[in-house]
Amino acid sequence: MANIGRVLIVGGGIAGMSASIRFREQGIAVDLIDLDPEWRVYGAGITITGPTLRAYKRLGLIEAIKTQGCISNGASIFRFDGIHLQDLDEPALEEGLPATGGIMRPVLHRIMQERVKELGIDVRLGLTVSALENVDQGVNVTLSNGTSAFYDLVVGADSINSSVRTIAFPHMSEAVHTGQGCWRISIARPPMLERGEMYFGHQFPAGITPCAKDKVYLWMLTPHIRRERHFNETELFDNLKANLGPFGNSAGWIRDNMQLTDWINYRPLVAVLQPKPWNVGRIVLLGDAVHATTPHLASGAGIAVESALVLVDELVAAPSVNEGLTAYQERRYHRCHDVVETSIAVGKLQLEGGSPDQIGSMIGGALHRLAEDF
Ligand SMILES: Cc1cc2nc3c(=O)[nH]c(=O)nc-3n(C[C@H](O)[C@H](O)[C@H](O)COP(=O)(O)OP(=O)(O)OC[C@H]3O[C@@H](n4cnc5c(N)ncnc54)[C@H](O)[C@@H]3O)c2cc1C
Repeated sequence: MANIGRVLIVGGGIAGMSASIRFREQGIAVDLIDLDPEWRVYGAGITITGPTLRAYKRLGLIEAIKTQGCISNGASIFRFDGIHLQDLDEPALEEGLPATGGIMRPVLHRIMQERVKELGIDVRLGLTVSALENVDQGVNVTLSNGTSAFYDLVVGADSINSSVRTIAFPHMSEAVHTGQGCWRISIARPPMLERGEMYFGHQFPAGITPCAKDKVYLWMLTPHIRRERHFNETELFDNLKANLGPFGNSAGWIRDNMQLTDWINYRPLVAVLQPKPWNVGRIVLLGDAVHATTPHLASGAGIAVESALVLVDELVAAPSVNEGLTAYQERRYHRCHDVVETSIAVGKLQLEGGSPDQIGSMIGGALHRLAEDF
C-alpha cells in the first residue's frame, strides 16, 4: 500500500465526499474543506443512471438512495407534443441494483454528508487553498484563513473553476461553452407520469426525472442565450413556460401548472477533459475539476464517484503513491474521455438539427459502453 497517512480533500461535492468516505474507510485520516460556509447544494434533481447506481453501491450508499430517491426500470419516449413513441426498459447492471433513477440533489448530498460525519472526517467550511507547494513525500498547504499544514496528498475536487487546478496546473484550460444551455425546474409530480420521460422531435430536447414520490425535475436544452446579466425569477419562469408551449403529456402539465415559487434555473453548458497527467507530484485532480461534462448522458456525477473509488483503490493497491496516481489516470482517462466527448458531440448534433435516430444511437452507444464495469 502507498504510504499515505493524511489527505486533504478540497471541495465537498459528489467527488470530494466520495473520495473522503473511501479514504477514511481505508483508515486514512482525511481533512475535507469546502468554500461554501454552509456546505449547500442547490435545489434541482439529478438523474442517477445504472452505472451511477453501481458506483454508489460500491460506496455503500445504495440503500439510502433507493429509499430516499426514486428508482425505476426504464423511461418512456414521447414525441414533443405528447404522442407516446416507445418504452425503454433498461436492464439492471447487477443483481439487486435498480436499473435507473433520480433523487433531489439536497437529499443525495445529505446522504453523503451523513456518512462523512459518521466516519468522523474533519470537515472545515468557508475555506479554500491559497498556496500549494510539492515537497519531498507531500505537500505544504496554505489555506485561505492563513493557516498552513503538511499533507501526504492533496485532492482537488473543487469543480469546474478549481482553485487547486489554477494554482498547481496553470497549463490546463478552463471549461469551454458548448453552445447550449440547460433549463431545469423542480416541481410536483405530474399525475399522469409513471416513470422517467423523454421528449424528442422538437429543436429543444427535454425530459422529466422522478426524484421522490411527489417530486420531479424537468430539463430542457436550448441554444445558449448570451446575455449581459442572469435571468431574474420572472424571466426564468416566462422563458421556460414559453419554451414548453408546444409540448404535451407531462411536460405540458408542467407548463400549465408551474408557479413562480418553483425552483427554476438556467445554466450555460460547459465541458472540458483535461490532458494527462492529472497529478503534479502529490497534488491530484478529481471530478469536474478534471473531467467536466454536459448532462447529455446524465453521467457527470457517476464518473465523479467512479473516479473517487478508483483513485483510492489504486493508491491502496500500489507500492508507491506515484504508481497509484498513474494507475488511477490510466484506468479513468478513456472512460471519462468517452463521456465528455460523446456528450459534447450529442450537443453539437442537437444544435445542427440531427435526427432523433442519430442522436439516440449516439447516446445509446455511450450508455452501453458505460454499462461495462469500471
Ligand atoms: C445542468 C447540469 C445538469 C446535470 N445533471 C446531471 C445528472 O442528471 N446526472 C449526473 O450524473 N450528472 C449531472 N450533472 C453533472 C454533475 O452535477 C457533476 O458532474 C458533479 O456534480 C461533479 O461533482 P464534483 O464533486 O466534481 O463537483 P460539485 O458537485 O460541483 O462539487 C464541488 C464542491 O467544491 C466546492 N468548491 C468549489 N470551489 C471551491 C474552492 N475553490 N475551494 C473549495 N471548495 C470549492 C463547492 O462548494 C462544491 O461543494 C449535471 C451538470 C449540469 C451542469
